[in-house]
Amino acid sequence: MTNPFAAGCAWIDGDYVPIDQARIPITDMGFTRSDATYDVVAAWHGKFFRLSDHLQRFARSCQCLQLTPPVPWDVMPALLADCVRKTELQEAYVEMICTRGVPMAGGRDPRKIANRFYAFAVPYVWIVHPEQQAAGIDLAVARGVERVGTKALDPTVKNFQWGDFVRAQFEAYDRGAYTAVLVDAAGWVTEGPGFNVFAYVKGTLVTPASGVLHGITRQTVLELAARRGVTARPAALDMETLQAADEIFLTSTAGGIMPVTRLDGNVLGDGTPGPLTRWLNDAYWEAHETGPWVSAIY
Ligand code: PLP
Repeated sequence: MTNPFAAGCAWIDGDYVPIDQARIPITDMGFTRSDATYDVVAAWHGKFFRLSDHLQRFARSCQCLQLTPPVPWDVMPALLADCVRKTELQEAYVEMICTRGVPMAGGRDPRKIANRFYAFAVPYVWIVHPEQQAAGIDLAVARGVERVGTKALDPTVKNFQWGDFVRAQFEAYDRGAYTAVLVDAAGWVTEGPGFNVFAYVKGTLVTPASGVLHGITRQTVLELAARRGVTARPAALDMETLQAADEIFLTSTAGGIMPVTRLDGNVLGDGTPGPLTRWLNDAYWEAHETGPWVSAIY
């Protein structure tokens, strides 16, 4: 008999359900108002990668939005692991979500709504597939849309308000690029739909310091680069610096370290992923096998 959870398993209201049967109430303000936060941790070779860092970031996001998950924090790791175990997947994309919840009839005061928690595990998601990673991607710098201002939306709180990102993605497709990075109103480079960006310029690895999610993969890259003796730091990144980069790559839990070999159609270096990008990519996946960042699921 085939496993009914093979395509994914969700935890909703205390029950584990096959992903195609997972339902949320349509009036949950997480859905109607994007009033929610979430986090995503990867399972790789049957182990979580940096689970406690993802849980910590999720806790901070909840706190910033005045959301209180109805599930105790110390129960969450087991619940997420259960979702993965039910799928029997070794490599999974594991998401936890806290929503504002369902308002009382006739009301919408967010203080009076019981917050809800959902979780699910599905097969690992690649923003850039491995075959495409080997070649590298063409990254567009979005022109028709800018990144929403940080006073409107705190990008360090992981959120579903992807209006600017999705518009930028469509712009990238229209221009024949794989995806897009957005600049803010002042022209600083920020991030893109589901990823941080890095530029290796004149021997220094730079990633935007502000106006971005503090990605766990971004943090991992900063730590791995330091181990290799490469100067790596968060700093303001302008377009000129990005255009002058020897290497560019994107980072995300959904895909790891993703080489960019063309920027707005212009070939970078010799048009293949650069040596630092390749070294970081190898070190990144090696770190998923053993060591302080991994925890067993099975
Ligand atoms: N930036 C945004 C907007 C994201 O949504 C994500 C991940 O989904 C990232 C960056 C990368 O974060 P992490 O490396 O923690 O997956």
